Amino acid sequence: MNEFDLIKKYFDWGQDIGDDCALVSVNRYQQLATTVDTLIEGVHFPADTTPQDIAYKALAVNLSDLAAMGATPLYFTLALTLPSVNEPWLEKFSQSLRVLAQQCSIHLIGGDTTKGALSITINATGILTKNQALLRSGAQAGDSIFVSNTLGDAALAWQQLQNQQNPSTALLENFNRPEPRIKLGQSLLGIANSCIDISDGLQQDLSHILTCSKVGASIDLDVLPLSAEVAKHIANTSDWCMVLAGGDDYELCFTVSEAHINKLKTVQEELGVMLTKIGVITLRSPVSQFRLTIEGLDKTCKSYQHF
Ligand code: ADP
Ligand code: MG
Repeated sequence: MNEFDLIKKYFDWGQDIGDDCALVSVNRYQQLATTVDTLIEGVHFPADTTPQDIAYKALAVNLSDLAAMGATPLYFTLALTLPSVNEPWLEKFSQSLRVLAQQCSIHLIGGDTTKGALSITINATGILTKNQALLRSGAQAGDSIFVSNTLGDAALAWQQLQNQQNPSTALLENFNRPEPRIKLGQSLLGIANSCIDISDGLQQDLSHILTCSKVGASIDLDVLPLSAEVAKHIANTSDWCMVLAGGDDYELCFTVSEAHINKLKTVQEELGVMLTKIGVITLRSPVSQFRLTIEGLDKTCKSYQHF
């Protein structure tokens, strides 16, 4: 049983789960968006990762889920499980966490501290105007599909680390310090019809949008935004699955109708972030269960599954 079947069978109690954050109304005008993510040593980061990078990533991946909903960060809690009290480690961890928290104006309001194998759980909460949140369920046939920045850099770094190779500084930066696209998410409010952050690879995460929106999509490998290093790796290996299913990109994938394309261009210029059109949303085929067509791919890629 995979992680999604498990959640559906045991924890989908009709509470409308499935987006990057849960939405909770606080008054007539506003909603809180809340998300939780855990990082485990050996699963999400290698044992020799610096405390600074672990702290950064633990908060950044949660901020990325807030970004995917267009939420403005408010506060977070920190549940820390440590094998021992290592003060130099804690000093660096807390410093780095604090720097990112200050940069993103999010406040640490509580948590839990226990002894055990190293794991970090952060629950982050942001705020939105009611009914404005970007959801996975709003994609419409005819929408253009966009992604921010480049894909596959973190996955290539992870693969090289596992093969005892030394990734370049740029690749490692992508793996250890993904930039949460908070400003982009906020700017997409009223522009994008749907949005998700790419944590498990474009193929799986775009498929979540398609399932939730009951639409299909056609994307084109030739136009996927790649860094020079990833493009070189693909040229040598044809390993497109690393880009499509490698995970850990923490870029936003979103869909925009023709009517809002000009507004999107303005957002792109204002934020100076690279946005690439990678395909279009199509009507779902009534006969085909397989709703994502990837032009140029001759096999199916398997995304990371926890189980
Ligand atoms: P993300 O990659 O954005 O963090 P996930 O793929 O981990 O999201 O989770 C998919 C959806 O399932 C989310 O809406 C999440 O809140 C929900 N979910 C995950 N685990 C559980 C759980 N144990 N109980 C209830 N809901 C869960
Ligand atoms: Mg997410």
